[in-house]
Amino acid sequence: MESDPSISRDDPDLYLVRQIRAGDQRAWSQLIARYQGRLLAFARARLGDGGDAEDVLQETLLGFISSLRHYDEERSLETYLFAILRYKIQEQLTRRKRAPQTAFGFDAADDAPPGALEPATRETPSSIAARHESARTASRVLAGVLRTLIEELRDRDKLDDLAVVELLFYVGLRNKDIAERLGRDEKAVAGVKFRAIGRLSALLERAAAEGRFDPKAHSIEDLANDDATIAQVWRRHRLSCLKRSTIGAHLLGALDEPWESYTRFHLETVGCLMCRANLDDLSGPEGEAARPRLQEELFASSVGFLSRTAAMESVDETSNAESRKSK
Ligand SMILES: [Zn+2]
Repeated sequence: MESDPSISRDDPDLYLVRQIRAGDQRAWSQLIARYQGRLLAFARARLGDGGDAEDVLQETLLGFISSLRHYDEERSLETYLFAILRYKIQEQLTRRKRAPQTAFGFDAADDAPPGALEPATRETPSSIAARHESARTASRVLAGVLRTLIEELRDRDKLDDLAVVELLFYVGLRNKDIAERLGRDEKAVAGVKFRAIGRLSALLERAAAEGRFDPKAHSIEDLANDDATIAQVWRRHRLSCLKRSTIGAHLLGALDEPWESYTRFHLETVGCLMCRANLDDLSGPEGEAARPRLQEELFASSVGFLSRTAAMESVDETSNAESRKSK
């Protein structure tokens, strides 16, 4: 597995995950060092500064290890970790018997990975897959076309329009509210919406023509207007989220327009909690001294689960190799 030539150190996350799957303790320690700051910042934003945030971070790392077999390497590691964290926070809030509060209320735990959600019930990925196959197809197709739509807007520096689309599809605001928030004309907002849905339909048609889904099973019109799935996919894949390096450049005042405005929009107007956690982590004077202590504690409390995971992985690996051979 380590000798797979397709694995490059250029993707540090993938490299780390593969090493961890093989039981590499140093890789596990590196992953903790890499993510603990932003995860802790996120947890503290929701739970306050008490010890709860650190507890939840620890549970998140354990949840990650125990669900590692189900982790899809094509999925962003950061997004996956945040999904587990959100679920653990939700659990914590339930324990406290207090309703969660979020800016737009879109921070529910409904996108936690199945492995992390139900570590005890052990529903198999294939049974979940079969049950949700149709919904999964819709999600996959929409994720692809939305990503293209967003890239096109970015490439053409149409970040003002991207902001409209984000409030429309992701946050779910009405034209009038979007116009108010962005200081734009309501007709202009309606125009952006019209073009975005048109483009989405065209991209869906292309995807159908390429055989990526069956338009008889999922009509293009239904897909293009499936607001709930679009919002869910957008959040799950963090389609418009900022790169950590972009947030860093924003902090240094090194971002050019229109990116600076868009970055502020995403952080402040949308109030994306995951990007804000990265911002807090990057900007906080917080805990340079405390971090190595925390990292050691997190590592010590979780490393015992690694060998177990690695053993299960090798069983999986054997059966995967068998099924690859038979293809
Ligand atoms: Zn974000």
